[in-house]
Amino acid sequence: MLPLRLRLDTDALQVNWRACDRLSGSAACGAAVKADGYGLGATGVVSRLADAGCRDFFVATWAEARALAPLGLPLSVLHGVREEDMEDALAGFARPVLNTPTQVARWKAAGGGACDVMVDTGMNRLGLSTGDVAAGLLDGVDIDTLMSHLASADEDAPLNERQRTAFAALAGTTGARRMSLANSAGIALGERYAFDLTRPGLALYGGVPRAEFEGIIRQVAFPEAQVLQRRLVRAGDTVGYNAAWTAPADTQVAILNMGYADGYPRALSNGGVAEAGGATLPVIGRVSMDLIAIAVDAAPYLKEGDWVQLDFTLPAVAVAAGRSQYEVLTGLGTRFDRTAWG
Ligand SMILES: *Cc1c(COP(=O)(O)O)cnc(C)c1O
Repeated sequence: MLPLRLRLDTDALQVNWRACDRLSGSAACGAAVKADGYGLGATGVVSRLADAGCRDFFVATWAEARALAPLGLPLSVLHGVREEDMEDALAGFARPVLNTPTQVARWKAAGGGACDVMVDTGMNRLGLSTGDVAAGLLDGVDIDTLMSHLASADEDAPLNERQRTAFAALAGTTGARRMSLANSAGIALGERYAFDLTRPGLALYGGVPRAEFEGIIRQVAFPEAQVLQRRLVRAGDTVGYNAAWTAPADTQVAILNMGYADGYPRALSNGGVAEAGGATLPVIGRVSMDLIAIAVDAAPYLKEGDWVQLDFTLPAVAVAAGRSQYEVLTGLGTRFDRTAWG
């Protein structure tokens, strides 16, 4: 039994997916589950999203796809096919998302079957150019989903509409069965951005990339740590590295089995908040690599071995930590028990 766990809320995950599905209008709603389901554990996430009705899953790499293959659900691999991926790609448990002319040539030469294709419409990250497509590069390729990716969907930027227009102009030019553009933030831009299939990630896991999602998206992941020690710190004494907190009066303190190596931001030193038995308990002193101290005068019942929940509301924690919500989520370390789905 690990002294550190992520309590994971099945209901919240499924509520978030259904919200994205509804906001996607007549388009189907898929799920980006790369980076181990944004840090929550991809297998647990995918099986629960499948139960809610999700049928299109996106990972970054073939190793991620292989780990999910036993679930037997439709998978797409966003990073395409390198030569060394071809064995996996031809095994048929996932579709490659072809990104470059080299990958298209490789797939054609191997007689690969259905695939997806990424077209760049202004982000200049992965994808074929619209010129490649217009020149017939994709002729004869069996395309399930033609996709592009929005660079600035979390802002009201003119680039959004430019990308949408460029993508819409590809309709009917490739034989693709479906078109897909919107990530979480793109879904909030409206149904014109949804095309046939949307690909939310962040919002499924409790992230709020745009104001439209406020009050709709629920928190999914709740980090909890066990109390390793409880002690009395005398008035004037200090706690932790560099003595960054001084007791203003005699204070009961609990030491928790979690630190910045687990993804709890060091920036929340003297700023984070924990909760146990309904009491709000402030983080005091520096966050260590593996440990956090909290003041527990408000929780006299709290003892060694008890579990404490750290506040991990993504929008607020991201601001306090000076990180994006994506970094906060995917930064959760490898030492959590990720099987505590409720
Ligand atoms: C990560 C990713 C998504 C999901 O993005 P969110 O902002 O997390 O919703 C969708 N499409 C592609 C191509 C991605 O790489």
